[in-house]
Amino acid sequence: MEPFFNLTLNELEHILGVCGKEKFRARQLFKWIYNKFVLDFELMTDIPKSLRKIFKEMFSFTFLNLESMERSKDGSTKFAFRTHDGYTVESVLMPEEDRTTLCVSTQIGCKMGCRFCVTGKIGFIRNLTTDEIVSQMMSVKKLTDTTITNVVFMGMGEPMDNVENVIKAIQIFGSPYGLNLSKRKITVSTSGLIDTLKTIPQNLCVIAISLNAADDEKRTYLMPINRIYPLETIVDFARSYRPDKRSRITFEYVIIGDINDSGKDAEKLADLLSGVKCKINIIPYNESKHISFKTPSDEKILNFQRILLKRGYTATIRKSKGQDVSAACGLLGSRYLEV
Ligand code: SF4
Repeated sequence: MEPFFNLTLNELEHILGVCGKEKFRARQLFKWIYNKFVLDFELMTDIPKSLRKIFKEMFSFTFLNLESMERSKDGSTKFAFRTHDGYTVESVLMPEEDRTTLCVSTQIGCKMGCRFCVTGKIGFIRNLTTDEIVSQMMSVKKLTDTTITNVVFMGMGEPMDNVENVIKAIQIFGSPYGLNLSKRKITVSTSGLIDTLKTIPQNLCVIAISLNAADDEKRTYLMPINRIYPLETIVDFARSYRPDKRSRITFEYVIIGDINDSGKDAEKLADLLSGVKCKINIIPYNESKHISFKTPSDEKILNFQRILLKRGYTATIRKSKGQDVSAACGLLGSRYLEV
């Protein structure tokens, strides 16, 4: 049986074509499954009965097993799912006034070893399949009956290190016959694997690059990947990034107490990004018992933002979500360090 969540619309059309079926049946299946969330082939009334029977034998739906569901006092929920081979994958649902965002994981563990990130401490275990990435969305929908309006690839793992599966998942989330999320509602966050970023279509999704320092020495200390893709390479890429007139690249800046939170750091960042069409998202570091870094004071965070605003940048401070259930940025995967 073919796992349905593994297939993009094009792949499904191809499979049906090879089996001698009409291609438009693929669009019908996508609509029923992703749009109407009907997974029982018997209920797909615009498909002939004989074909429904064939589809039932052809396709399976993989829902990840729910291990735990922890609700934060701020309304977000962390889901821990168990994979078929016994690993745990975490996803976070964040309802806000005007949107509901799902943060999905792309790998179990991560190779990048960013010093401020719990997932980085686990090391790399394996990539998630397309099926497992899409299944996080479908499992959360099934459990909560929520309409998810935005997806961010900011959970466990470096999405660009599992690029094929991530692109397929984006195509499934973005298909007009399926979940129909526009590219502005899908964000991929990366530590800056520029060679891979260059290979993906610029208009596929919003790109966020995790910067976290404005000089190479500090960035290499925080993010070893900086040895391969230093700041100059990242800024050059950002300058050439022009998917359309309205889009701009986002830089994320995890601000850590006494590490990268000074006024001098902010000025350096403003100098570094001079002339780059971008948005800067300041993310106050979320403390973890596994890492000795500290969250900066509110005063320092606001001062950092003030400097960037004064220098003409769009700079926002991201509200931390789910900190009390280790669902916030950089905290996913804590359970691997506790066994
Ligand atoms: S911040 Fe992202 S890229 Fe860095 S170790 Fe954590 S999961 Fe990996």
